[in-house]
Amino acid sequence: MATVRFSGVTKAYGSTSVVSDLDLELPDGSLSVLVGPSGCGKSTTLRMLAGLETVTSGTITIGDRDVTHLQPRDRDIAMVFQNYALYPHLTVAENIAFPLRANKTPRREALARAATVAESLGLSALLGRKPKDLSGGQQQRVAIGRAIIREPSVFLFDEPLSNLDAKLRVETRTELAQIQRRLGITSVYVTHDQEEAMTLSDRMIVMRDGKIAQQGAPQDVYARPADTFVAAFVGSPKMNLLEGTLTGGTFTLANGFALPIDEGATDGPLTLGVRPDDLLPTVGAADAPARVALIEHLGPRAIVTVDARGTELTSVVDTARLSGISEGTGVELAVRQGATHLFDTTTGRRIAGETR
Ligand code: ADP
Repeated sequence: MATVRFSGVTKAYGSTSVVSDLDLELPDGSLSVLVGPSGCGKSTTLRMLAGLETVTSGTITIGDRDVTHLQPRDRDIAMVFQNYALYPHLTVAENIAFPLRANKTPRREALARAATVAESLGLSALLGRKPKDLSGGQQQRVAIGRAIIREPSVFLFDEPLSNLDAKLRVETRTELAQIQRRLGITSVYVTHDQEEAMTLSDRMIVMRDGKIAQQGAPQDVYARPADTFVAAFVGSPKMNLLEGTLTGGTFTLANGFALPIDEGATDGPLTLGVRPDDLLPTVGAADAPARVALIEHLGPRAIVTVDARGTELTSVVDTARLSGISEGTGVELAVRQGATHLFDTTTGRRIAGETR
């Protein structure tokens, strides 16, 4: 069992805590992704687990072992960085076998195990190549192979894909998720990219200012963001977040623009959240208070920016349903049934129990 636990973990530099009183449980075999904006403390959290940063207070355990003060080499972990630094003069097989050779495993046995690992990563045909003759994605898989061969109980990934171009990043991300599921090794992955976190993780842990803003299955975090920070951070294009007042089923912005919504919440000031996919424009009167400011075509769908009395709203519409809507068109806006998110404007917290 390699469940990872952080209990009351704080990391402070002088009087500034960059990770504060963190309680976190990462189940055995899971792929947990720490995600959040730059500076929120995700790398520091990973590096404390790796033993590359000291812990100011609290404890970290892996399985039933307290590793808080152990040296990195004694923690039974392997880490894959964005700069995977393969040895240029060694072949793929020798690169993967390197950690075993460093442990004095006989060459023949080390290479045989490297061949098995390479097979699981689809690298068998490349065993004799040098790193310079590999694509970026293949190099990253070799780096993963070099980590796997040690059979660690926990894998750590620190933005491992950020040096790859967009297409390769998506491909390698899929491969990585498949490898992780096949091996079933508890893995912790750090990224600032919410889409990468959504697609890869079993558990998504959104961090803000050294604390956990929300954690859970990615689809749950997306469907029920706990506050306006998470609501704005997860999902692209960003959720529309509008301050206004609810009165008898009509939500009215400060500029007077009104939107009917179907949620039964107490009348009063609120922040309304609507995902762009859930905001539905239809052709309205030429002098309607909302009009289309911009249409950006994505192929099957288009991003429609609507100006509602000076407030910009974002809608994503199937191209087939754009008929009659062009830049300058006056539109009526509706919110898809059951798709509103309501937040307390003062605290930013989701209003419990009153939305789906
Ligand atoms: P992230 O990985 O989420 O971008 P980090 O964990 O790298 O964030 O950093 C969290 C915060 O800790 C940042 O505000 C950073 O400036 C601060 N920090 C990191 N290292 C040090 C250090 N050695 N001394 C002081 N502050 C640091």
